[in-house]
Amino acid sequence: MSKHKNKEKAAEQSKHDFDFNGGWDYSPSPESIGHVKLKERYDLYIDGKFVKPNSGKYFQTTNPATEKVLAEVAHANESDVDKAVKAARKAYENVWSKLSAKERGKYIYRIARLMQEKARELAVVETLDAGKTIRESRDVDVPLACNHFFYYAGWADKLEYAFPNRTVSALGVAGQIIPWNFPLLMGAWKIAPALAAGNTVVLKPAETTPLTAMLLAEIIHESGLPAGVVNILTGYGDTGAAIVNHPDINKIAFTGSTNVGKIIQKAVAGTGKKLTLELGGKSANIVFEDAAIDQAVEGIVNGIFFNQGHVCCAGSRLFVQESVADEVIRKLKDRLDTLYVGDPLDKNTDIGAINSKEQFETIQKYIQIGKDEGASMYESTCQLPENGFFVRPTLFTDVAQSSRIAQEEIFGPVLTIQTFRTIDEVIQKANNSPYGLAAGVWTDKGSRIFNLTTKLRAGVIWANTYNKFDPTSPFGGYKESGFGREGGLQGLGAYLKIER
Ligand code: NDP
Repeated sequence: MSKHKNKEKAAEQSKHDFDFNGGWDYSPSPESIGHVKLKERYDLYIDGKFVKPNSGKYFQTTNPATEKVLAEVAHANESDVDKAVKAARKAYENVWSKLSAKERGKYIYRIARLMQEKARELAVVETLDAGKTIRESRDVDVPLACNHFFYYAGWADKLEYAFPNRTVSALGVAGQIIPWNFPLLMGAWKIAPALAAGNTVVLKPAETTPLTAMLLAEIIHESGLPAGVVNILTGYGDTGAAIVNHPDINKIAFTGSTNVGKIIQKAVAGTGKKLTLELGGKSANIVFEDAAIDQAVEGIVNGIFFNQGHVCCAGSRLFVQESVADEVIRKLKDRLDTLYVGDPLDKNTDIGAINSKEQFETIQKYIQIGKDEGASMYESTCQLPENGFFVRPTLFTDVAQSSRIAQEEIFGPVLTIQTFRTIDEVIQKANNSPYGLAAGVWTDKGSRIFNLTTKLRAGVIWANTYNKFDPTSPFGGYKESGFGREGGLQGLGAYLKIER
């Protein structure tokens, strides 16, 4: 190639680069934690009281960014679960179902207000316990959790308008099991609609992230909610299993892995318990050549690196139209290099700590699988903290459709990139997954968006944006991503018996 041609090529390439002027340097901006007073030990919240577990056992919860112990929490066993279910049943029969719907709404509203008042404390504790960035817990998780309570408080006395010409009634006692990726938010997704529909609740948070659930128990207590309406039990998988198998529970709501979802579905089969499962995902984020490329790059970053990639609907499979693939990948690599990985309490941090050692090892395992499968890996060049569990934002190109990293949920900051030429090809590739939770489409053409939303087998499809959540819109999946919807009217219906 002539010198002239080389120059032209370099100029063409640099047009496709993001020029970040050598990256952005910020002074550290750590959130203060002086206002947060964690207890050394948290008991179970049963029947309106904080009580010691019958098991007599406690376990430690640690900060994944420092590996330091934060507190001890109780390990509820079968008899603790039984006690909580009995309290929930008694509260349902004697108090909650007898209260007017308007009064029930007032309690839910009060919980939302108290959460708002303690928003900063909730955000800091969520960041300490889960490893997620303070920017996220402060600006996304906590406000959204409050909004869920506000939203469902409004529906409590309007159920006949929500489901016109139908007779609706509460189910009874709801058993709810939540994961570690959005601990407080998932608690809100579960408790708020259940209470608005007139049910009482037994909830179990994940073992690595129990602390904001216990703060929520304190808030609920402070709200004056009648004893037994909400019971919160910390524990391991066996605590969750005891809730699922308890004979006096009317509804199970579970968010977590597809494997545990399958165990729960089998356990519930034939018992008459109503079930909703919100499970894993491997969502496609699709960029067409006519998309606003720079915005799409931001959307790709948000889609996969938000919350360290611990997001069931993460846009973990990127499909880029071949004609713009070079440009998108080059800009994406430039953008990756500007992401701050480190102290989750620092307001500049983009990617915090991986939630646990176990999840850290799972992600490392998948990165190795990607390399062994022959895909090309790129990771950002940032420095990682010495302690704690951190992973650099990583992407893989040259990924085969059959590759495990393109098929299995990694649940970490790892993106696979594939290309496509035609719309039919990308629809086929995107749908070729055992999951069907979410998808993203980036294009300037409205008709293409509508075409894809009817053909992609995914519960939620975002157009020219990604990871937007709102309490009014339903969320849930197809295939191995589970069934049932949370959020919106559909999420309310999941906690009601709806008859003609
Ligand atoms: P799990 O599905 O094991 O955990 C979710 C919740 O279920 C936790 O509260 C857990 O308790 C509880 N649980 C565990 N076993 C049982 C059981 N037999 N019966 C009832 N409840 C049970 O997810 P993991 O934390 O183990 O994560 C493993 C993988 O799952 C991740 O790598 C990720 O791929 C995926 N995942 C997906 C999520 C999603 O939203 N789609 C969320 C979390 C994980 P405990 O915490 O004590 O184990």
